[in-house]
Amino acid sequence: MPLRVGIIGAGIMGLSLAQRLSSNGAQVTLFDREPQAGGLTTYHDYGDFWWDRFYHVILSSDRHLIGYLHEIGLGDRLRWSPARSGLYAKGRMYPVTSPWELLRFPLVGMIGKVRLAHTILACNRIRDWRALEAVSVEEWLIGLCGRRTYEAFWKPLLLAKLGEQYRRVSAVFIWSYITRLFSTRDTRAQRNQLGYVSGGYRTVIQRLETLIQAAGGTIRLGTAIQAIESAQGGGFSVRGNGRDEHFDRVIWTGPIDGGSPLATKGLVSVGTSSGPVEYLGVLCPVLVTRRPLVPYYTLNLAAPEIPFTGVIGMSSIVAAEETAGLFLTYFPKYLPSDDPQLKLPDDIVKPQFGEGLRKLFPDLQEADIVGLHINRAAKVQPLQVLHYSKRVPTVTTRHKDFFILNTSQFVNSTLNNNAVIGAVNEFVRTHGRSFESTPDRSPAVLETVEAS
Ligand SMILES: Cc1cc2nc3c(=O)[nH]c(=O)nc-3n(C[C@H](O)[C@H](O)[C@H](O)COP(=O)(O)OP(=O)(O)OC[C@H]3O[C@@H](n4cnc5c(N)ncnc54)[C@H](O)[C@@H]3O)c2cc1C
Repeated sequence: MPLRVGIIGAGIMGLSLAQRLSSNGAQVTLFDREPQAGGLTTYHDYGDFWWDRFYHVILSSDRHLIGYLHEIGLGDRLRWSPARSGLYAKGRMYPVTSPWELLRFPLVGMIGKVRLAHTILACNRIRDWRALEAVSVEEWLIGLCGRRTYEAFWKPLLLAKLGEQYRRVSAVFIWSYITRLFSTRDTRAQRNQLGYVSGGYRTVIQRLETLIQAAGGTIRLGTAIQAIESAQGGGFSVRGNGRDEHFDRVIWTGPIDGGSPLATKGLVSVGTSSGPVEYLGVLCPVLVTRRPLVPYYTLNLAAPEIPFTGVIGMSSIVAAEETAGLFLTYFPKYLPSDDPQLKLPDDIVKPQFGEGLRKLFPDLQEADIVGLHINRAAKVQPLQVLHYSKRVPTVTTRHKDFFILNTSQFVNSTLNNNAVIGAVNEFVRTHGRSFESTPDRSPAVLETVEAS
């Protein structure tokens, strides 16, 4: 009899895990509280086309992710495109993609530029990230390249990626960000290419749903798991939508923080001495226009008067036929997950956003705009505060049949889907064989876990 496995969370982590375990013979049921699979990687209806709810790209160095896309038969749907970066400061946009453009960037002096190059080289030389956990990213960058270069170059990048909370984050964040960007042996031309799957992540999510179901797995969407209770004869009873289902093993892939009953009820101990994992949320207006807004994939903003911290020109890399000939631009702002701004109704967010938009693009006309969508998520990016690795839950728990696999466990990497697939690969390598076996009915410790 195959092992019955319940996986909570049908984001890319839960989907790829369910696909791997079900194709190896486990009988998997995948739960998600949302009506549509994909989690943060899910898709959105932009009217004339579907594309990712939040912006996603693939780097040429994303070997786990690219390998997996080939494995699930989507290698031929990968597309690559040159990408440019920019920085907006003092009312102007500056290109900062190539070393040549950086050399001409007027807001950093020549000595600052040398120190900027030194910072990137220094990052690439560091192998042991643990010492960086003790120092704030701001202090570390100022020490390496001076305050002026920090203010002009790094601070807008930190604001774009983390919002005001960047002040609490350790230097591991920027180290992992830079090493990810430069972790490829590709030529510079290849390194500046960004990738996507034709059809966006919708293609990937739908392929995974098909593969899971073809391997005998079940996907239960719109099912918020409220409790996971260990059963006397072994395994767990999982409660969702008023229904209990029994599983031999359970894997939790959603966020866990200190406020979650899951973290406090016994199976999981999170951040006992250092505090809980905290998350950032994102408020992300998305504009569909008849003309392109920026030639850049990322434009970081050093402009406190503008109510978002970055501009992501998705259409600068995605072929026009993918988006019905229209242009897609995302305007993210990262906020603490309990920030009231994340709950503001769209009719309050839209005029505030419109004001910032007019400052950045004074010549943009109403007639250029096809649609404005306000996307948001409360728990996105685990905040890599000082000594972060002491806060995260371990994959194996006090209960031998209950596992946690989530993005909070990325202690030395940024939040990205290459790291997600890497974590799933590692899980399958370490524990996969035991999921191919028949259930172990030895009695389990009696505990109840409730999920938020
Ligand atoms: C704005 C933004 C930009 C990004 N850009 C990139 C990029 O360019 N490249 C890249 O590689 N990555 C990017 N990412 C990161 C990528 O989206 C994440 O790595 C990925 O989505 C994490 O997937 P996950 O399955 O681990 O988590 P999630 O997507 O958070 O999935 C967790 C799932 O668990 C479900 N869940 C939680 N609690 C319960 C419950 N009680 N019952 C049932 N279900 C529950 C949730 O509904 C959710 O679907 C970006 C993310 C954001 C938000």
